[in-house]
Amino acid sequence: MASQRQINVGGVLIGGGAPVAVQTMTKTETADLVATMAQIHRVAEAGADIVRVAVPREQDAEALKTIVKQSPIPIIADIHFNHTLALKALDAGAHCIRLNPGNIGGPDKVAEVIQRANELGTPMRIGVNSGSLPKHLRDLEFSNPVEALVTAAVEFVDLMERLDFTNFKVSMKSTSVPNTIAANRLLSERIPYPLHLGVTEAGTKWTGSLKTAVGLGTLLADGIGDTIRVSLSTFHAEEEVKVGWEILKALKLRERGPVLIACPTCGRLQFDMDTVVVEIEQRLAAYPDPIEVSVLGCAVNGIGEARHADFGITGAKNEGLIFSKGEPLRKVPTEQLVDVLFEEIDKFYKADKTIVKDAREAAEGAEWLAKIEAENEGEMTPERLAAAELAASEASGGGEDVLKVVLDESASPTAGRRFTRA
Ligand code: SF4
Repeated sequence: MASQRQINVGGVLIGGGAPVAVQTMTKTETADLVATMAQIHRVAEAGADIVRVAVPREQDAEALKTIVKQSPIPIIADIHFNHTLALKALDAGAHCIRLNPGNIGGPDKVAEVIQRANELGTPMRIGVNSGSLPKHLRDLEFSNPVEALVTAAVEFVDLMERLDFTNFKVSMKSTSVPNTIAANRLLSERIPYPLHLGVTEAGTKWTGSLKTAVGLGTLLADGIGDTIRVSLSTFHAEEEVKVGWEILKALKLRERGPVLIACPTCGRLQFDMDTVVVEIEQRLAAYPDPIEVSVLGCAVNGIGEARHADFGITGAKNEGLIFSKGEPLRKVPTEQLVDVLFEEIDKFYKADKTIVKDAREAAEGAEWLAKIEAENEGEMTPERLAAAELAASEASGGGEDVLKVVLDESASPTAGRRFTRA
C-alpha cells in the first residue's frame, strides 16, 4: 500500500504519491570538505535527489554547517550511538536526520533529539536494521526475522507518535532480499508513513545491483516505497545513483535521460555490436531527454520491435540503417553508424524536436531494408518466433488453455499513482 503521509526533506517531497526519490550516501570522511563536496556534486550530477553523510565525530558535525550551505541537494545526517551529535547535526541545518532510536542511548535521549527536530521542523528517518534489533526482539528475530523487523519499526513509530512527532519516514534494512520484500510489504499495511527502501550491504556493483533491483523492484512494482538507496561496495557513490535511476526507469516510475534498447544478439549478428552499444550508451549520457534509442544486431527482422524507438540503427556487413519511429532515415557505411546516428539526433534537437528526413536518402534506406528482409524472408529469428507465437495465440481465440497477455509497454505498474517529475 502506498504511503499516505508526506514529508519534505529540504524541498524534496517524500511519500504521499510524490515521485520516488533517489538517494545515496557519500563514502568520504565527512570532515574532509573538499572530498565530500566533490562527491556530493558528482552524485547530484548523476541525479541524486538527496544525499546522506555519516556524522560519527564532532568534526563531521562541524563540517556539516558548510556542507549544508554548499550542497546543491538536501543533506541527511547519519547518526549512530550519540545523541549529542544528532543535536549538533540538527543545529548545523541538516535537512533530515537518520537515526536508529534503539542505539541512541535510551528514551530520554531520543525525546531530546525529537524535541529539537520538532522545534526546527526537521524531518527524521527512523531506521531499523536487521543487525541491530532491540534486545527483547532477539528471540523473535531468530524464529521470525520479518516479524522482528516489522515489530521493531512499529515500536519506534509508536514512540515517535507518543512524542507528538510525525515528521518522519521509516526504513527497515536487511541483507536478505526476501526478508526486505516481506517486511516492507507488511509494514506498508501497518503504518501510513513514507518508506525508505534499500537492501543493506548488497555487494559489488554487479551482484549488489541485481539484488537491489529484485528487492526494490518487487516492492516498487507493488506501489511500495517512497525513496530508494542502492548500497554498493564501491567508492563511486554516483554508481549507486545510476543504478537507482535504472530501477525507476525500468518500472516507468520516473524518467531521466535516454533509454537504450539493444537486441541480445545471436548468430545473425552482422557487426561489432558490443563496442557500438557501449559507445552509444556513453554518448547518450550527454542528452537530458528520455528519448528511446534502439540498436539491432542485424536487419533480418526489418525494424521489428524497435518500431516505437525515437532513433535506432541496424546493420549488415558493410552497410547499416539509421531509422526513426519505424521509418528509414539513411543508409550509411557500418563504420559510420554511430556518428551518423548522433548527427541525426542532433539535427532533431536543432529542428525543435522534429525528425528531419531527406526523401531521397530515406527512400534509399527503405530499399536497402526491403532487400535484406526479402533475402531472409523464411528465416526464424527470435523476434519472428515471438510474433508467430502471439499470432497463433490470437488466432486460437484464447481458449482456456491459451494464456493471452495484452501488454501496454508504456504503462507503469503503478500508473496513475505516481507522476513523472518534470
Ligand atoms: S536476429 Fe534479433 S537477436 Fe539476432 S542479431 Fe538480429 S536483431 Fe539481434
